[in-house]
Amino acid sequence: MCGIIGYIGKSKAAPILIEGLKRLEYRGYDSAGISTINENNILVEKDIGKIEEIQKKRKKEEKINFEKIEGNVGLSHCRWATHGSVTKENAHPHTDCKNNISIVHNGIIENFSEIKEKLIKKGHKFISLTDTEVIAHLIEDNYEGNIEEATRKALKQIEGSYALGVICSKEPDKLIAARNESPLIIGLGKDENFIASDVPAILKYTNKVIYLENNEMAILTKNNVSITDIDGNKIDKKINEIDWDAEQAEKSGYDHFMLKEIHEQPMAITETLNGRIRNGNVNIKEELDLSEEKLKKIDRIIIVACGTSWHAALVGEFMLEELAKIPVEVEYASEFRYRNPIVNENTLVIAISQSGETADTLAAIREAKKRNAKVLSIVNVKGSSISRESDSVLYTF
Ligand code: GLU
Repeated sequence: MCGIIGYIGKSKAAPILIEGLKRLEYRGYDSAGISTINENNILVEKDIGKIEEIQKKRKKEEKINFEKIEGNVGLSHCRWATHGSVTKENAHPHTDCKNNISIVHNGIIENFSEIKEKLIKKGHKFISLTDTEVIAHLIEDNYEGNIEEATRKALKQIEGSYALGVICSKEPDKLIAARNESPLIIGLGKDENFIASDVPAILKYTNKVIYLENNEMAILTKNNVSITDIDGNKIDKKINEIDWDAEQAEKSGYDHFMLKEIHEQPMAITETLNGRIRNGNVNIKEELDLSEEKLKKIDRIIIVACGTSWHAALVGEFMLEELAKIPVEVEYASEFRYRNPIVNENTLVIAISQSGETADTLAAIREAKKRNAKVLSIVNVKGSSISRESDSVLYTF
């Protein structure tokens, strides 16, 4: 789950969208993009890497100045890939076949492959390997001149989590947003309105926000915002005035990051389990990359971690022993790396590290691998050292 900003109003959208992305940078992301409507055409610029790098690259190669991209309505997105690897094609925004509709999405569409199959049979052409792209084509498939209606119809067929922004070149005075399980807010300005996945992205422009709830949609124009449920019934929403400064905003109003992270735990757990539940059970088979036969041979599990991850590991120990009936030990990675642990090919070493760069934990997994143990890491950062050196990785959100 990463970031979304959308703008409709009196100003040029691109600089606001880019600025917003930079404000969400602290969350980490693998690719980014923006899309605006100019003279009834959808423009899309996207690539892998940080928005600043993408801007520089485009300026150098194609002389495109992002700040000068025209259009008073637009969307931007920073992606943390869940479906489809980190490529330009998979970056958001995604468009429909005719390049009339552009969308950004945070979350996971669970039933995307069924929908994709049906749409391909109907002649839709897909460019990316994401779950997200089906939304653009599904809206296109339901479009009969009203983007709000088409989005509503599409959402009724979708299962999963989403924070969604939609624009349509045939209706350039509208921006549609919708939410289920992934956070999305509406920012209210004067002659301009915003959508964002988090407050810091828009705080520079407005402190009046509406929090969208699950299964709610928002229809934004320059001068108006109306909120409805998924069936189109109007909902009266409270307008909240945020009195945080930019620094507090990054901490969602909490005094410090630790408090924020503690309060975000239910959301982090939901996001982490999202996409890993099949028929009511957590399923990590594909990610595990261990054959059934090898799994059965595992007779001991050692969890290595430091600090807060070590505390999380203690909870994991109880749960794993209870469920798997395999002896589990939790070790400080810093101790493990300097002793002579009894580890062999039938040991599963689980490494927990938020950043994926914790030096002691990295050294501990190298030690474990030397002794032929299988290493599974639980980390938050794609491409991090620990994720690269482990046999399997489970990413948290
Ligand atoms: N599931 C989508 C993708 O992989 C959205 C990821 C996100 O929330 O950034 O493209």
